[in-house]
Amino acid sequence: MIIVRNAEVVIPGEGPSASRKADIIIDGDKIVSVGEPAPAGIDFEREIDASGMLAIPGLINGHFHSSANLLKGTVANMPLELFMLYEVPPLMEGRNSTRSAYVRTMLGAAEMLKQGVTAVHDDAFYVPTPTGDEINAVMEAYRDSGMRATVSIDHPNVVEYAKYPYLEDILPPELRHAMDKAPLMSEAELLAIYGWFLKTWHRAEGGRLRVAMSCSAPQRVTVNYLQALSELSRQHNIPHNIHLLETRQQRVFGIEKLGKSLIEYVRDVGVLDRRTLAIHAIWIDDRDVEFLAESGCTVAHNPVCNLKIGSGIMPFRKLRNAGVPIALGTDEAIADDGINFWTVLKVAGLIHNVTDPEYRQWPREDEILEAATMGGARGMVQEGEIGVLAAGAQADLVLLDKKTLALTPLNNIKRQLVYCESGSSVRTVMVAGKVVVENGRLLSIDEKALKAEAQELAAEAARYHEASSVGADRLEPYYRDMYLRSLRRDVGFSRWA
Ligand SMILES: [Zn+2]
Repeated sequence: MIIVRNAEVVIPGEGPSASRKADIIIDGDKIVSVGEPAPAGIDFEREIDASGMLAIPGLINGHFHSSANLLKGTVANMPLELFMLYEVPPLMEGRNSTRSAYVRTMLGAAEMLKQGVTAVHDDAFYVPTPTGDEINAVMEAYRDSGMRATVSIDHPNVVEYAKYPYLEDILPPELRHAMDKAPLMSEAELLAIYGWFLKTWHRAEGGRLRVAMSCSAPQRVTVNYLQALSELSRQHNIPHNIHLLETRQQRVFGIEKLGKSLIEYVRDVGVLDRRTLAIHAIWIDDRDVEFLAESGCTVAHNPVCNLKIGSGIMPFRKLRNAGVPIALGTDEAIADDGINFWTVLKVAGLIHNVTDPEYRQWPREDEILEAATMGGARGMVQEGEIGVLAAGAQADLVLLDKKTLALTPLNNIKRQLVYCESGSSVRTVMVAGKVVVENGRLLSIDEKALKAEAQELAAEAARYHEASSVGADRLEPYYRDMYLRSLRRDVGFSRWA
């Protein structure tokens, strides 16, 4: 057993200023008690003195794509549809090495753990197709890092031009034919990979590593595959990652191709339920908010990514008022240009203030901390198990030094965690009862060697992307045309400032 003595425990969901002095007792991977006096006669194998420290539940990055971890700063700010054209060009050949998948995943884990992010919901994608070796490399990195991870396979199975409105008509025939010839995995092949993935990795490492489902987005997959993933999510009681109405163009897609919003569509085909992680949910109307609330799903809010690619602003207060749980995510390193979870807290706490002059509707710091912990747990279908410091929960916790510049003078703990902290006060990080960061240094990862290898691999990745952007440049005028054409379609409301 381990005891953390004299910590000031911060309780995310209990109003603006809840904190209390307490000892935390840990047995194996679980918290035994918070605040109860230590029973006499226990010989603790380790005592951690947390005097002068805040203790918070490990933060949870509620939406992430580790696949882009080596691509920070590689794509300029532009709308999602054009951005993805450069990130994952539809006509690209070749693949990155398995080693690169391991190193990139480890790099992200290192950056998150040092900030006190103990769990990640990783919607990993694989270019051009997922393979057992590359998936193993990702999971082995999370295993070795000590981080908690729930990982899905984000892989579309419809031809590129079918994912967008207007594109099929706009593309010249030779480009359309080239897209028709690009390799597509069948539903059976993808479900076989998921079957293997579940058997091999779900609940590995004492439950620290888990598998989730992902359709990527409903307009990117066949309805049969979408429903099969939802069924697996129900059978295993695991999350189903669905990007929903991230952009205005996706709103137009629903109007033009389905005659309804994509949220109504997923509801009508029976895949919107309490295990759904509805990612982004920006271009939603009041009916969509009702559908989301009725389903019991969680929404993943990624405000920094939404700014980078100009997607718009998610209606935070409408969702909260409807009772929809909200998680916070960095989304990917290429669409945030970093993996800085504390920045996400700050931006989430600020961006909504310019959407409503009624200041009583603005997000409060306790709501943001709740989203960064309990909301993320809810999205991973692990509520009560993680994201809280309570008896019976997993021992995922973070100790922050109260004497850093960010927290001095300490006037309001929760407000300063959201608006002042950058991760610089994080001293000790524990995941499943194991200390993985001590005095701000990673214990589970050789950071210096990792960074050196990542830098080498970045050069390889850069060459690969340089070659693939030739294809993207060829397609860009047509994607721009599609983007501009969708802007002329009235959608009845706006989520842009
Ligand atoms: Zn995403």
